[in-house]
Amino acid sequence: MMNNYLVPVSFLLDEEKRQLILTWSDEHESLHNWETLRWACPCAWCAGEGGQPGMLQSRQSLTSEETTLDNLQPVGRYGLTPIWEDGHKTGIYTFEKLRAMCECDECKKNASQAERYPKR
Ligand SMILES: [Zn+2]
Ligand SMILES: [Zn+2]
Repeated sequence: MMNNYLVPVSFLLDEEKRQLILTWSDEHESLHNWETLRWACPCAWCAGEGGQPGMLQSRQSLTSEETTLDNLQPVGRYGLTPIWEDGHKTGIYTFEKLRAMCECDECKKNASQAERYPKR
C-alpha cells in the first residue's frame, strides 16, 4: 500500500465526546475534536480571503450548533466537507490537512517532527 496517499475509509461521530473518528487506509484512527475542527474551517467565509478577515477572526467563541458535526460529505478524491448543525458546509478539509490535524496521542507526539507530506 502506498503510504504517501492516505485516505479515510470510514468515519464515526462520537457525540458523547464531541469528536470525529476517521479510519484511514493504513488503519490509523484519527481523532478530531469538533470544536477544533470548526475553528480550522478553511472556507473564505470563516477564514477570510484575499487579505479580508474571516468570520472566525471576529469571534471569541462559537455556539454549540456551530460546533456540532452532523455529517461528512466527500469532496472529489481529496477531501471532506463537514456539515455542521448550523447549516454551514462550505469548508473543504483535504485528507492531508485532516491527517495532519489528528489529535491522537501518537500523532501529537510526532507533531514536532518534520512534515510527513512532501509537497507535490
Ligand atoms: Zn467555513
Ligand atoms: Zn493519529
